[in-house]
Parts: sequence; C-alpha cells; structure tokens
Amino acid sequence: MKVFKFGGASVKHAAAVRNVTSILKQHKEESLWVVVSAMGKTTNALERVVFAFRKGEDFAAEIQGIFEYHQHLIRELFIHPEPVLNQLAKAVDSIHHNLVNHIDEDELYDRVVSLGEVISSQIIYQFLLSEGIHATWLDARDLIRTDSTFREGQVDWSATTQMLQNAKKKLAPGIVITQGFIGADNQNRSVTLGREGSDFTAAIIGSCLKAESVTIWKDVPGVMNADPKRLPAAIVFPELPYTEAAEMTYYGASVIHPKTIKPLALGNIPLWVKSFTDPSFAGTVIHDCKVEGLPPVIVFKENQCLISCKVTDFTFVNEAQLSVIFHAITALNIKLNVMQNSAISFSFCIDFRENKVMALIEKLQEHFEVYYNTNLTLITIKNYDEKSFDTYRKREGVILEQSSRSTLQVLVKDL
Ligand code: ASP
Ligand code: MG
Repeated sequence: MKVFKFGGASVKHAAAVRNVTSILKQHKEESLWVVVSAMGKTTNALERVVFAFRKGEDFAAEIQGIFEYHQHLIRELFIHPEPVLNQLAKAVDSIHHNLVNHIDEDELYDRVVSLGEVISSQIIYQFLLSEGIHATWLDARDLIRTDSTFREGQVDWSATTQMLQNAKKKLAPGIVITQGFIGADNQNRSVTLGREGSDFTAAIIGSCLKAESVTIWKDVPGVMNADPKRLPAAIVFPELPYTEAAEMTYYGASVIHPKTIKPLALGNIPLWVKSFTDPSFAGTVIHDCKVEGLPPVIVFKENQCLISCKVTDFTFVNEAQLSVIFHAITALNIKLNVMQNSAISFSFCIDFRENKVMALIEKLQEHFEVYYNTNLTLITIKNYDEKSFDTYRKREGVILEQSSRSTLQVLVKDL
C-alpha cells in the first residue's frame, strides 16, 4: 500500500479538490491511504476562534466565516449538496458546543482546531463517492493513539500500530480517506500533533503499515535548495538521503514537517515530495542513498528572537550558570536554534512565541541581566561555497554569525 498526503493549499477551493480527485483517479487501482489537512487557512481561523473565546471576545463572525467558506466550496462541488451541507452544519455546531470554559486551554484548542480536518476529510470523501470512486472514511482518532499532551501529542507507537493494522484488516477495497494532524488519547479526547503535523500523520501511517512509499503533494515541484519565492534560481533535488532532508527540516525548511523523516528512515520507506499542480513532474525522492556534491542549501527561519543573559558581578559565565539557563529552557520545552557565548554573556536564538519567551525571560531575570531582540530571521547555509559564504555574511543587518566547516548561520534583523 501507499500513503498520500494533501495539505490545506491542495484542497483550498473546489477546483483544487477536483484536481486532487483527478490525481487519486490515476491511483484508484492501488491500495491507497490518503491523509488530508484542513482546507486552505481553516486551522488559523479555528485558532482565532479559540483565542477569541478565551479572551472573552466575539468569535461568532469567525465561525460564520468558516461555515460560509466550506458552504461555498460544497455548493461548487456537488450537484446535490444537501447531505454534505448537513454534515458541515453539524461540525460547525460542534465548534460552538466544544467552547466551554471549564476545560484546560490546550485541550479546548485541540477539540476545536481538529474540526478543520474532520470537515475537510468528509467533503473530500463525499466528493470521491459522487465521482464513483470507492472510498472509506476513517476517523484518525481511532487510528492514532497519543498521550495527553494537548497541542503536541506524543505518539504511542505500539497502540497506534495495533489500531492501524486492525483497521486495515477490516477494510473494503478502495481508497481510505483520513485526517492528518489529529489523534486521540486513551480517553478518546482529541489531541493534535503540532501545527503542520499532517505530514507526520502520513509518516506514522506509512511506518505502522509498512507502506511501499509515502508521497507528500505540495505546491512546489519537490524539495528545493531554497525557497523559490525568495531565490528564483532555486533547483529541485531529484533525490536526497534521509539525513540531509532531516537536517534541512531541523534548520527550518518548511517543505516537510521535521518529525516526518525519522519513522520513514527507520522503516526504509521512500518519501516522495511531488507537485499537485504538475503531477507528471518527477519530484524528489528521499531515501537511502548517497548524493555527492550537493549545492548550498539556504533556509530562512523567520520570527526569531535573540536572548542574551549577562552576568553582572564581574565574574564570567560559568558552567553552573549555563546549567541554570538550560534548565529554564528545558522546563518550557523550548528549542534552541543557535547559541553563542562570550566572557560575560550567553546568547541564544529561539522561535518567538510570546508567552513562552516572556516566561523564560522572567525566569532568567532572577539570575542575569537579560536583553532580547525580536523580528529576526535566522538564515542557514548548509554545504556553503565561497560565494554563498561571502554573500550571507555581508548581508545587511547581521547581528550574529556562526560557522562550521559545512554550515554557516547568520541572524539578521528584518529590514
Ligand atoms: N491543518 C493543520 C495546520 O494547518 C495541519 C497541517 O496542515 O498539516 O497546522
Ligand atoms: Mg497546513
């Protein structure tokens, strides 16, 4: 069997859903599991509903917007839209029902935000049926078991393998449609896997069911050495080793979710990245291979924050102080993107998530003088050559740089 994953952009309007359907029609003879994301920017809209509810602000218009967006799409897709519109109305009603005050903030988030994938998968499933394609709709919450870390569910691999294999045994022939990004804990509460987590879902299914391959369908022709919107001369890699692709995601390449590679590499399952706008284009295969002489890979990671901890008592930064800093970072589950030390200060760069950054600064201020800078972009140049090394070091607004023999990183102020 194979696994396909279609993200929000590939199903953002009726024509896009038709395009996905035509890709699926070419594969309908195969045993195929299809993972879909919420349509377009629905996840962002659902997040805004939850945040507005928490702040006591009006959220009704946002929900209405979500309803109308899907309603319009359904009306364009179906000759007899009523049954699908009824399903949509039920799902949208359940957004309202789920908004209750007494549950934990992150649990509430997962209950509500997961509905984007539920709605999307129902529409696509119904559309496949209306096109005469045999399909089965499965609820990912019956397939992916996580712990109860809401918003960042950790997968219980053995339970998930069991659940997936059991579901597979009971299947009727045809395509399986399920949701990316969501799973459930052992009390059946919805738990999401972290933003953009649908790629990871495809990898989980591929790995637990020992798929022949996993394909992520994107709006780019494959994995490229830079974002073509920033660098039009970017090229597509025909193939990449797992390790190279994993490192690219570590530095912030958004083409694949960082958690996707590991389960596939462990199972030696090839991961294809292909274009949904031009399916005839070969794309990139990430697998067990060696590629000599890779060109520089340039990754931009936006919305960074640089924090500097300075000692104030005329001593130097010592290991005990570093350990205080690392403890505070670990306690908040923060990932360091770059770090650098000098005699009297230790600086590091992290993603700017306001709540977490502020909580961290508060903690660090108990021990240090703390400075911070926001609106920064971290640029990583992997496998740099002389030209790219010079170009990025001399870029305007560099406030920190670091290089090894293979990788240069510069942190720049957004201009
Ligand atoms: N819909 C979710 C998100 O936008 C998951 C995904 O698209 O992968 O984060
Ligand atoms: Mg998405």
